[in-house]
Amino acid sequence: MKKYGLNELRELFLSFFEEKGHLRLPSFPLIPQSDASLLLINSGMAPMKPWFTGEQAPPRKRVCTCQKCIRTGDIDNVGKTSRHATYFEMLGNFSFGDYFKREAIGWCWEFLTERLGMDPSLLYPSVYVDDDQAFEIWEKEIGVAPERITRLGKADNFWEHGSGPCGPCSEVYFDRGARYSCGKPDCAPGCDCDRYVEIWNNVFTQFDNDGAGNYTELSQKNIDTGLGLERLAVVCQGVGNLFEVDTVVSIINKVSSISGVEYGRDEKSDVSIRVITDHIRSAIMMICDGVLPSNEGRGYVLRRLLRRAARHGRLLGVEGVFLNDVCGTVIAENKGAYPDLAEKESYIARVIRIEEENFSKTIDAGTAILSELIEEYTKNHETTLSGADAFKLYDTYGFPLDLTVEMLAERGMGADVKSFDENMQEQRVRARKAREALGDLAWAGVDLGLDNTPTLFTGYEKTRDSGVIHAIVSQGEVCSSIRAGDRDGSGGAGHGVIVLDKTPFYAEMGGQSADFGTITRGDAVFEVTGVQHNKGGKFLHQGFVRSGALSVGDSVNAEIDIERRRAIMRAHSATHLLHEALRATLGEHVRQAGSLVEPDRLRFDFTHIEALTKYELEEVERHVNSSILGGLEVTSEEMPLDEAKKLGAMALFGEKYGNIVRVVKMGDESIELCGGTHLDNTAKAGAFSITAEFSVASGVRRIEATTGLVTLGALHTARGQLSALTGLLKAGSPEELTGKVEQNMLALREMRSKLDAEAVKTAGGEAEQLLGAARDVGALKVITAIFEGAGPDKLRQLADSLRDREAGVAAVLASADGGKITIAALCGKLAVEKEVKAGDLVRETAALCGGSGGGKPDFAMGGCKDAGRLAEALEAVEGMVRSKVSP
Ligand code: ATP
Ligand code: MG
Repeated sequence: MKKYGLNELRELFLSFFEEKGHLRLPSFPLIPQSDASLLLINSGMAPMKPWFTGEQAPPRKRVCTCQKCIRTGDIDNVGKTSRHATYFEMLGNFSFGDYFKREAIGWCWEFLTERLGMDPSLLYPSVYVDDDQAFEIWEKEIGVAPERITRLGKADNFWEHGSGPCGPCSEVYFDRGARYSCGKPDCAPGCDCDRYVEIWNNVFTQFDNDGAGNYTELSQKNIDTGLGLERLAVVCQGVGNLFEVDTVVSIINKVSSISGVEYGRDEKSDVSIRVITDHIRSAIMMICDGVLPSNEGRGYVLRRLLRRAARHGRLLGVEGVFLNDVCGTVIAENKGAYPDLAEKESYIARVIRIEEENFSKTIDAGTAILSELIEEYTKNHETTLSGADAFKLYDTYGFPLDLTVEMLAERGMGADVKSFDENMQEQRVRARKAREALGDLAWAGVDLGLDNTPTLFTGYEKTRDSGVIHAIVSQGEVCSSIRAGDRDGSGGAGHGVIVLDKTPFYAEMGGQSADFGTITRGDAVFEVTGVQHNKGGKFLHQGFVRSGALSVGDSVNAEIDIERRRAIMRAHSATHLLHEALRATLGEHVRQAGSLVEPDRLRFDFTHIEALTKYELEEVERHVNSSILGGLEVTSEEMPLDEAKKLGAMALFGEKYGNIVRVVKMGDESIELCGGTHLDNTAKAGAFSITAEFSVASGVRRIEATTGLVTLGALHTARGQLSALTGLLKAGSPEELTGKVEQNMLALREMRSKLDAEAVKTAGGEAEQLLGAARDVGALKVITAIFEGAGPDKLRQLADSLRDREAGVAAVLASADGGKITIAALCGKLAVEKEVKAGDLVRETAALCGGSGGGKPDFAMGGCKDAGRLAEALEAVEGMVRSKVSP
């Protein structure tokens, strides 16, 4: 058999099935596009489910792919068995009601033995126990001896996932030889060891399970096969495991060179090297497809992989972050098949570096605490960490449970996982109660009678509408009428909630703030100051009666504050344009993660790993403003969810949508699912201005921005400030401000240097005076003086002047500033030559008044504790100099 490279094998497979009439499709992204039941794509068929169930028509009845897969369920096997990775590629050929077992088995055999030239005597098929049909095809049509065909039970060879289409499988095992065997007498195809590896699984979806275990034959039978690309390469290249195939081994080598640990020397470090190699591959592919590290869902899968890789790096003795250094190698090996890897290379490396840096901090803190705990437990001869301790590590320090468990296992200990779960559950309940107490359910809790029809919202078209009062809540109770009362204190008389049959008021929803306005009937006026939405779809108009009274059954006029609504619409439409601008500027990974829309103000949260640069912010702002100035027509339309998705409408991750959705379109610039109220033309948004950008959570950034009148207001404020400054600085116009400020700064600087020169002059004068009064000791001039109200700076300045003027000076000066006394000694060049040193003088003088000090021969400083003895100490200086001076 020829030793094909992994990339060659991929191409051989796909072109083989193209020759058999299959449509070759590129790999689907790792994030399932319309399947909430699955975190990450884990097989070739997973993204094709709607084609298998018949929900959607496939582009052709025969399809073949090479699909990127993530299986975190195999994480504990990684590095340990030779055949499991968390990321791998699955080759597959699929038939949707077209060919069935005979062709699937025939082509499977043809590809392996003829196209790749595998030795048939090393291949062992397996079939499902009852599947005589498949058995016969293998025996009679392919010619495999019956004793080489293994019948396996439901666990191995029946594919089923709850109710729905299911069926028997037929696998192909490759015999890698006795040296890979576990050595047990019953080691045969199906054994879990590394001798017989399953390389290909053919699933024959031929039944429908009604969920109660009743199987009926499907009229449309399907074929779904999976052939692990890396496993195939292991077999073809005759290497030990799937980390040693041509495209993966360079990653092993890179990890080994970074860590300085040779691969193949020691099993334990080999496992670590393989784990890192595996996890970094998975992480890179996930990030490339738009996953970002987080604490839940697929984000947590990614975080866990990166953290595990980082920790195995530490086990190998790597210091500091290193995973992003491996990125280049992984990308170089895979960019041929997945070109977007190269495009996103620097982004991917950045995400990994930031996550690893953050984790490094968490790990240091958590490891220290866990080590202390382990010591404590060991002292008490306990081997199980309590759930409470494990939970505290998790909850307070962000130290993940799986790491705790792993680190404990290394010390022969365990954790009480059950009690950990209970702690977690309790915390969830606490969190939910807190949320409930906060309110929004309080309104839903008010019984509004048996009538469950939702309020009809007419506010897309109207700003004023008639309606009938269906319910009234006053002072927390359902009642039949509400009248004007005192207005101070919420919940007081006159305050309450009114429910109408239909309303133009928008209820706070999807981040958009509610409309304000009035509900009136003749002289009776209810001032609306908030609108909420309860679970039954009723709009609860909150507010107070300004005058008169209103009763259930009254026909009323509901009218919103148009100015407020317009300002909200400006901000909301700008939010959609901002979303697009961010994606255009930063990349397709940007996803909305929350928003708040208020009158002419908006807040937009989105997934992105790093702060935006000044350039990026300017570009985003420019992009939005150009969409506004383009005067794009804004339209909205209701349609089935499927149709909206086909149009490419952006939906929010994890958001539940009904079957009929509202699609808001702005020219060709933006198309989003949205229930909010919008301008009819983007030009009406006015000027868009970004006011802030910062991080709100790991991997989530926030932009705050303004539109319309608020942007204008900010402009006015800035203009006011400018003109105030212009006046203060006596500049003729704002344009002259910069010049004026520069002028003033220059003048200040000149003034300061003049002052400095002045100070030197003054010090010079004082120095002359001091020298005039000096006592002569041989050729030296001894000076002592006390300066009241001065500080150490004064002493330093004087010292410089004295030494400049007189080489024979030996002086001890003191400053007294409040209670703080500083002593400084200085000796000129001649004095130092004669062995009279400032350091000695200051030390001895300070000692005489209870202080201490020291320094260099020409200058030294010290302190004094006993002010009463300072004068006496200075008296002694002349004697000190006399005793030191050498001839
Ligand atoms: P195993 O029992 O060896 O874990 P499986 O039964 O889980 O395999 P299938 O679900 O039938 O495998 O997947 C189809 C093919 O995908 C397998 O035949 C194998 O070639 C490949 N495969 C499955 N899991 C992995 C993995 N973790 N790493 C690499 N390849 C895999
Ligand atoms: Mg498996």
